[in-house]
Amino acid sequence: MKVQVVIFDLFGTLVDDFASSVGQMHAELAAALAVPYEAFMQLWRQTTEMRTIGAFQTVEASIEYVCGVMGVQVGAEQMTKAVAIRLQHTRRALEPRPDAVTTLARLNDQDYKVGLLSNCSVEIPILWQETALANLVATPIFSCRERLKKPDPRIYHLACERLCVMPGACLYVADGEDHELTGAAKVGLHPVLLRTSSQETRPELHQETREWQGATIAGLAEVLQLVRR
Ligand SMILES: [Mg+2]
Repeated sequence: MKVQVVIFDLFGTLVDDFASSVGQMHAELAAALAVPYEAFMQLWRQTTEMRTIGAFQTVEASIEYVCGVMGVQVGAEQMTKAVAIRLQHTRRALEPRPDAVTTLARLNDQDYKVGLLSNCSVEIPILWQETALANLVATPIFSCRERLKKPDPRIYHLACERLCVMPGACLYVADGEDHELTGAAKVGLHPVLLRTSSQETRPELHQETREWQGATIAGLAEVLQLVRR
């Protein structure tokens, strides 16, 4: 079947790996909230899954939860500051990779629909419209909003439904975190691994990448050749 749609992963694919770009965020958050850094960071990391599957629908709720577990009540001013820090770091993490905007724009020009399927917390849909990618993506799907995450087959089916396309007419381009490529293949999409440098620095996230035998590209622009095959 001819490719009609290209669905992209976000972190590690259209933008850098999230963890590599948020830098000092935990330290700044802990300082703003006046909580011990180590304990805060540990709890924040332990609640990643909850943020990704939409247990918190606001930034405030995710901060309040972690502080609540620590037995700390957050004042209004502290909360405002912490939310601003979280959004500011996330905004920076959403800076598109150099070839992302041009590749998506060319796909649009050539009448391929572009989708997005991201395992992410609520900050991403909040900030999405600010990004240079927003106008180039037809239907972004955020795990936190759908309360489903990759590699759950239902979230790939949902993406195809919203894009009005059969899975077999879709490429799925990703860096292979969370076994997302195998998940895509099981549903019938054509998975493509994007090789990136963060796969070497964060091997714990990329077991699938190391074992991947399927289609592989070394840069996003290569998608423009793949869709024509
Ligand atoms: Mg990724």
